[in-house]
Parts: sequence; C-alpha cells; structure tokens
Amino acid sequence: MDEQIAGLIRILQHNNISAFYVRDSDEALRTVLAVIPEGAVVGYGDSLTLQQIGLVEALENGPYTFLNPWKEGNSIEDNIRLKRQSLTADVFVTGSNAITLDGKIVNVDGHGNRVAAMLFGPEKVIIVVGINKVVENLEAALARIREVAAPRNVQRHAHFAPAPPCGATGVCSDCSSPWRICNKLVIIEREFNNDRYRPRITVVIVGKELGL
Ligand code: SF4
Repeated sequence: MDEQIAGLIRILQHNNISAFYVRDSDEALRTVLAVIPEGAVVGYGDSLTLQQIGLVEALENGPYTFLNPWKEGNSIEDNIRLKRQSLTADVFVTGSNAITLDGKIVNVDGHGNRVAAMLFGPEKVIIVVGINKVVENLEAALARIREVAAPRNVQRHAHFAPAPPCGATGVCSDCSSPWRICNKLVIIEREFNNDRYRPRITVVIVGKELGL
C-alpha cells in the first residue's frame, strides 16, 4: 500500500468510516464476505466492481437473502420493489464513483436508490472501490464522474433509449435525457460515532483497477 492510500485510510477512520486496503479481487471478496453475517438480508447498488470481484455471484449462491433488483428476469416492478426493500436491508453492498484523498465518498445516481441506501437505512454499508476510483480532491472526483464514469455507465446500459449524449461523446453536456444517470449528487464526508449511533460504512480499497 502506498503512503497516499495509507493516509486516505487514516482519514476515513478518523471520519468514523472503517477502511481496509486489499491487494486484489480475491482478497476483496474474502474481506467483504467476512463482515456479512450468515442469514443477513443484503441490498445491492448496481456495481460492475462487485460483479468483477465475484461478490454478486457469492451472494446469489450463499446463505443470504440477496435483494438483487437487476437479477435476470426481474420485471420493472420487481426492480423497484427490491430497490425499496434494500433501503432497510441488514447490509447494503455497492461501489463508488470516486473517493478523494481527503476522505470524501462521491457518487451520482439516476434513480437515487444507491445513494439513498448509502446515506441511511441499512445497518451496514460496504463500499468496494478499485484503486482507479481514488482521486486527489472533489474537483477531480466530479471530473471523473462526468468524463469517465458517466459515459462508461451510459454505454453499459443498452436499454437507455434515447441514451444520454455522454455515452457517445465522452463529455458531459448537462443533459436533460430521460435516462440522465447523474440526477442526484451525494458527498459523504463523515459518519456519527456516539452513544446513540455507531458508524455504518466500511470502505474496501482494492489495489487493482475495477469498475467504471
Ligand atoms: S448530465 Fe447527462 S451528459 Fe452529463 S454526465 Fe450526466 S447523463 Fe451524461
């Protein structure tokens, strides 16, 4: 782990957000599964990173009630119902668009289910990010979202029709597309840690490029 990542982990922990560095996808998968109790109800914010480390498959096949809104064959009604149920899950797992070296967890969302569950609801939130998601500051995080994450996410969703323009141009035009994927911008800076409320969020930083 380089000194910048070590510093980021110290800052996150200071902000009452648990943080780990792991070397690769296998270690990330083991680390996440180790903190999800058997029998837990697990909500899911759509994440290529979680698919890549094998977590989605492990949750589908493991001793959990896995609320996957995007499971093949789900209707749109299923999708919305599972997104709503995820807001009160025991554990919510997701990726992130960016994390800044000063500890800000930065995300945009089209529907809002992912950022809503990150903010409040599930007792535990686990966020897995590849090293490519770590950026210098908030300005770089927002640039990454507009110039990298959003265009790639638009390209990943073939059902977006008409697709937001950034999928073709690679540049944000602050569109009004019906499939605009950055309707909600959320920046998590810190968590409570007091007699009444315990911290909820764990960040797992993987020393490999993952996700979009
Ligand atoms: S506002 Fe539109 S064009 Fe800009 S990043 Fe979001 S979806 Fe893409």
